[in-house]
Amino acid sequence: MEFKARIAELKEELIALRRDFHMHPELGFQEYRTAEKVETFLKGLGLSPKRIADTGVVALIEGSSPGPVLMLRADIDALPIREENDLPYTSVNDGVMHACGHDAHTAMLLIAAKVLTEYRNRIPGTVKLVFQPNEEIAGAEKLVEQGLMKNPDVNAALGIHIWTPLPSGQIGIQSGAVMASMDVFKIVIQGRGGHTGYPESAVDPVIAASALVMDAQRIQTREISLMKPTVIMFGKIEGGTKNNIIPDTVTLEGSMRYLYAGGSGSEEDPPARLKRLAEAVCAVHGCSCEVHVERENSAVVNDRGMVELVHKTASQIVGADRVVGHASMAGEDFSAYASRVPAAFVFLGTGNPSKKSTYPHHNPRFNIDEDTMTTGVELFVRSVFAYFGNTT
Ligand SMILES: [Zn+2]
Ligand SMILES: [Zn+2]
Repeated sequence: MEFKARIAELKEELIALRRDFHMHPELGFQEYRTAEKVETFLKGLGLSPKRIADTGVVALIEGSSPGPVLMLRADIDALPIREENDLPYTSVNDGVMHACGHDAHTAMLLIAAKVLTEYRNRIPGTVKLVFQPNEEIAGAEKLVEQGLMKNPDVNAALGIHIWTPLPSGQIGIQSGAVMASMDVFKIVIQGRGGHTGYPESAVDPVIAASALVMDAQRIQTREISLMKPTVIMFGKIEGGTKNNIIPDTVTLEGSMRYLYAGGSGSEEDPPARLKRLAEAVCAVHGCSCEVHVERENSAVVNDRGMVELVHKTASQIVGADRVVGHASMAGEDFSAYASRVPAAFVFLGTGNPSKKSTYPHHNPRFNIDEDTMTTGVELFVRSVFAYFGNTT
């Protein structure tokens, strides 16, 4: 089967789809236009797409016989960012932008669906196509709650993220944790307000907060192995009303990321350590505190078997020397699938200075090297045939 040539024929359509999605970005769970366009395209292929969680679209490509079910996932949502690119297809929705490449994911999976339906009689099983809303705010779990992984039950999953930190032509894949788990926290430090001229008559929560920001950094450098990447960041500090008043309270908010299972109840348990440390630091300063930690994403943990399969396929597409190990401290709700079935999450390099596609994800100037999208389509398609043991 010569997929490369067939996909090359569809390149123009692939780019046109991506540009259309790029021009009309929609925020999470509001992807009505996108979902409609996806549905129309899939119906045109003779498939019967169904909605899930309102703006999600799922369709089955049933092969030559019943068999295992492989899920291919693309996310379809955009971000609340005002695009600063000047392109013929710059976002027309002010303040909303496809700044993470999900427009490319949607287009790649649609074209992959087109090729797969053409070869469906060589698939001894079922491909479940998932166009998932609201990736940026952990939408995957809602789809799972609504039965995404059932009827027919999913046996394995594959997701691809186009990735500007990797150069065009490279594919990043490795087993184990490849995207970080993330907890968000809020700490309220209670002191006792007063006059800055009489600090002895008050209890200053500002100095306790300052000490806590510094001391929290000892968790990842002194308490948790350096082989277990952990980042504790404070993103917001709020307290006080005027320069000569000691405030009653200071509130700190931040995030903790780990490139391993991490989280509450784990061996390392960074949330419990932060709570213990915050209470101890506050006690030193005569304050009390309340610590709230909430889980946002679990780590995306790649399955060894699926990685071997995709690694081999990727090597056939771009050459073994261009398939590299890669992991990121960013979060991804693909973890909702990878924690339930053997899965692989792959980074598709698209960084190319001559195409101005090296801006970080979520930057208002983010863009991709569109020439790399055909590689993404080929990776979806050939991984399907590799999974079903039909590589001829
Ligand atoms: Zn993103
Ligand atoms: Zn993304």
